Amino acid sequence: MSTTCQICGSTSTTPVIAQDDVAVVTCTECNFVFMETMPSEEVQAAIYDDAYDGASAGYFAKVDSKMRRSRRRARAILRMTANKSDTRPRFLDVGANGGFMTEAAREQGFDCVGVEIDQASVAYAREHYSANEFFLGSIEAYQEAANGATFDAVYCSEVIEHVPDLNPFVEAIAKLMTPDALLYLTTPDYGHWRRPKNLPEWDAFCPPSHCVYFDRQTLSRLLEKHGLKIFRYRFSLKPGLKVLARKF
Ligand SMILES: [Zn+2]
Repeated sequence: MSTTCQICGSTSTTPVIAQDDVAVVTCTECNFVFMETMPSEEVQAAIYDDAYDGASAGYFAKVDSKMRRSRRRARAILRMTANKSDTRPRFLDVGANGGFMTEAAREQGFDCVGVEIDQASVAYAREHYSANEFFLGSIEAYQEAANGATFDAVYCSEVIEHVPDLNPFVEAIAKLMTPDALLYLTTPDYGHWRRPKNLPEWDAFCPPSHCVYFDRQTLSRLLEKHGLKIFRYRFSLKPGLKVLARKF
């Protein structure tokens, strides 16, 4: 079967695992790890319905700890954000979820927009954090609707591993960044020294929800294709990548 690597364009892959009819392969050229057949929109919609079912009771119950972590990250992002104008710096939260990081960034002095494809999450965010703007839809749809709007800082945490079509996703993010804008991105790290060697034991290994798996090299290569250069990898004890990048 011919499957094209979204990062290097090679069609040469080898199997990583075939689990419950979910085949994951690695590109023999660049080592990118991805699902041989990406989940359809229907499958994705079903995953999201499931993930956020009973959202207020379960997922959004840990709001206090989510807000504490978000505030720490928002302060760090503000320190690294170059804002040359007199107006408030602008913050874009890609995959805003219930709006926690969007709100934390607003508290630090940013003007914020949160973009989220899950309707229940956007409803929660609009209800609880109404001083921010929330867009229901994909980042590609937001970029088209945004009329050339740009941002000084972009946050994208534990989102990109869910994205089947990576190049339009990263391209939309890059277009929404001012020159020198900061990108803070996190995703599971396939290349991490503490990632379980037996993949089914890794809690982040969950196709089809997570359909792509990055390491430092593949993430850096994808971002650079769209004019984004990683300048720091933040230390993580868990098998996760936390990267800071700038638009060049
Ligand atoms: Zn490749």
